Amino acid sequence: MTTQEKDPKLQLKLLVDQHSNRVLFAEAGKEALDFLLGFLRIPLGLVVHLLTGEQIPGSLTSIYSSIQNLDESYLMLSDRDVLLKPRLPSVSLLLLEPDSPALATPPPKRYYRCSGTNHPCRGNPIYMTNVGGMPCPNCRLPMVTEMAFLEKPKADSGKSGYVKGPITYLVMDDLSVMPMSTISAIALLKKFQLKDLSMLCEMTVEFGKKESLELLKASLQSTTVLTDVFISKPRVDIDRLQTT
Ligand SMILES: [Zn+2]
Repeated sequence: MTTQEKDPKLQLKLLVDQHSNRVLFAEAGKEALDFLLGFLRIPLGLVVHLLTGEQIPGSLTSIYSSIQNLDESYLMLSDRDVLLKPRLPSVSLLLLEPDSPALATPPPKRYYRCSGTNHPCRGNPIYMTNVGGMPCPNCRLPMVTEMAFLEKPKADSGKSGYVKGPITYLVMDDLSVMPMSTISAIALLKKFQLKDLSMLCEMTVEFGKKESLELLKASLQSTTVLTDVFISKPRVDIDRLQTT
């Protein structure tokens, strides 16, 4: 496995106003936008876990450390990670936690019935269980005959993403999103009332796990997320592929 596969990277093309040192907007492909939208599927407990050691506004950290410290004798849970590291198949986790078990396909569920040879089940058993060997409520025979369960095909497993490609989307500094079109870009430039268009520069940034965590953190506490992550704290390890 190459380094790139281990630490997958996504791209954003930023339009930066060098005069005010802020990102006006970014162009994002499907993958980058799916990543950002995937924030909405990350359970809060996992957010606190991912941002361990960071200042998280509000009181979530307190609830989190309370359940961490609560004596086992008070818990009905056999595994408190249900609260501390809850999982959902969010596309964001591909970058934030590439090894997350949420991304592994769960084992198929198994179902059983009785053999259907005894009265009153003979030929027509009606009960089914997911606990193999349980006595059939009708004929009392152990329910051990495995059945094939046909699941409805899933339209979105959470891995294939949320928006259609190959479309370019426009992401504002506060992470509001719309489809990109020439008209909307021009309208935006007008809206920003830029006096000096020569101060605009286009910058392509790549982001991996580290920057993804910063984006997640900034999305919780800022309305200038892209500026905060990519401009205000210029970092040597963010590849600037091109600056024009
Ligand atoms: Zn039966």
